[in-house]
Amino acid sequence: MLELDQLLQRLACPRDKSPLTLTGSALPHTTNEIVCQRGHRYPVVDGVPVLLLQEVELDYRGTYHRTLKQARGEEPLRDYPAKLAPGAVDPYVQVYLGSTCGRLYTPAHGKLEQHPFPEIELPDADGATLLDLGSNWGRWSVAAARKGYDVIGMDPDLEGIRAARRIAVQQGVSSNYIVADARHLPFPEGAFDIVYSFSVLQHLPKEHVRQSLAEVHRVLKPSGRSLIQMASLTGVRSLYNYLRIRWKRGFKGPAQIDVRHWTWRELHDAFGGLIGPTRIRVDSFLSLNIQPADLEFMLPWHQRVVRVAQALEALSRRVPGLKYLADSVFVESSRDER
Ligand SMILES: [Zn+2]
Repeated sequence: MLELDQLLQRLACPRDKSPLTLTGSALPHTTNEIVCQRGHRYPVVDGVPVLLLQEVELDYRGTYHRTLKQARGEEPLRDYPAKLAPGAVDPYVQVYLGSTCGRLYTPAHGKLEQHPFPEIELPDADGATLLDLGSNWGRWSVAAARKGYDVIGMDPDLEGIRAARRIAVQQGVSSNYIVADARHLPFPEGAFDIVYSFSVLQHLPKEHVRQSLAEVHRVLKPSGRSLIQMASLTGVRSLYNYLRIRWKRGFKGPAQIDVRHWTWRELHDAFGGLIGPTRIRVDSFLSLNIQPADLEFMLPWHQRVVRVAQALEALSRRVPGLKYLADSVFVESSRDER
């Protein structure tokens, strides 16, 4: 993990993208603040740069506002241990696994015996820079770091980022973490070879996703690419849920579902228009964020769902139209020149 002043050299003001320096703080709850060349100030809380815009409104499950309150010293940090014992599972992960990794994981609450690190679909790298957009406790960051990526994980949830730092230290990986907002990325232009994001942007309103994609384009190197998981409107399960909710609530007004579903056309238009040449491929059928490596954490019924999903995935490689019925897709874009 980089020292704070080294990490700051890789960051920029989320408002005006000017360089940042460390300075003392007059605030009672923090000894350091970060200041940009134009005087915008951001607190460092428990060693974590909190690079959020105070005025931005977004209340995703309350975490954004909790972080802002904690950053202002109006709400205490949660009482988690500063360091994890070898082999211990982080208490944050025990409690929050269901909300960060999906409902199929709920039975595992409090009973995990190890951190569920997934396999990341990226080639091995020799120090290529990777932004884990919406990293939370860092499952993908650790997976990428183990493949040789130089990772910065970011998330608006301060407690998720504190957990990510504890886990990185315990696991002996060198990934770095900050608190930030995908719509206002605190990095200079061309900072990353890869932007990776899983089960994050699918939760944001589409306008916020488009703002975030423009930022992804800005922070990618000219040869860079992004790999972003999204939810497809034409997925089997998505269609079923959509119709079920519409049946109950009528066809007027927003459906009030947590995940925003996109058509393949919408994804091509947004990602192609804002980042560059785009290809969509199947991630999974039926569920949005199951990882085959995690079968052991699930109930038998859920394990069967995962096996059916895997069979559909295999079939979709031979039956062309079947891909449109996938619920979760990876959108892969190469950055174009503007
Ligand atoms: Zn600034």
